[in-house]
Amino acid sequence: MESQKQIVDFAISQKELEELGCPVCGYAYGTWGFMGGGGVAVGCGNKSCQATFYVLGDGINVFDGCSFSHKNNKGEYIDIKPSLKPHPRRGIPAWGKREDRRPKKGGEFFTNPKESTYKHGLCFICESSCRLPVDVEWPMKRLFSISIETACVEAAKRICSMFRKAKLWTTQTGDGTQYPMKCYFVNISSCYNHRPNLLKLREVAEKEGVITDKVLRKIKALK
Ligand SMILES: [Zn+2]
Ligand SMILES: [Zn+2]
Repeated sequence: MESQKQIVDFAISQKELEELGCPVCGYAYGTWGFMGGGGVAVGCGNKSCQATFYVLGDGINVFDGCSFSHKNNKGEYIDIKPSLKPHPRRGIPAWGKREDRRPKKGGEFFTNPKESTYKHGLCFICESSCRLPVDVEWPMKRLFSISIETACVEAAKRICSMFRKAKLWTTQTGDGTQYPMKCYFVNISSCYNHRPNLLKLREVAEKEGVITDKVLRKIKALK
């Protein structure tokens, strides 16, 4: 028999979610679901829990004007209207949080470059919009953007400010379906002319995994 994933029929506050995590297992991450009535339905990100629970914005005690339909263990649909209750794990901090780590020798971790699906970047060198020669098909544009996944928002902000300091352009985006943001992506794009600079940057991410001010200056000076 397929195990029944737990549905928590009351709501916790956003503040307690941040401190204490999932009301069932305490895991710090999950996925936002339906949003409305002053709160949100959430799916726990712990694979062995996957509970569904409800979170209300600070100062809100009950979902306003909406209820949620769930199958009970007899297979019948029931409506629930979650109201605020104290978090069942008070006193136990959330677990599984990602650490904000930095390389010992300075710089920032800058690893695992992926093709970016973020297609509206400006060239990180000359800030011209990333237009390709007309004979290059639109999907090819991806070849001119890379995306770096960072461990936390603080790391992403620091990387972007390193680029800014070197007068280089980046875009920072978050994964909006996750709470708290699981990671932030730093996207870097290049125009056709500055593709060698971007390829060099990708190589640094692949081979060294750390970005420093010095490396950025060198990459900027390439072309
Ligand atoms: Zn859980
Ligand atoms: Zn350029």
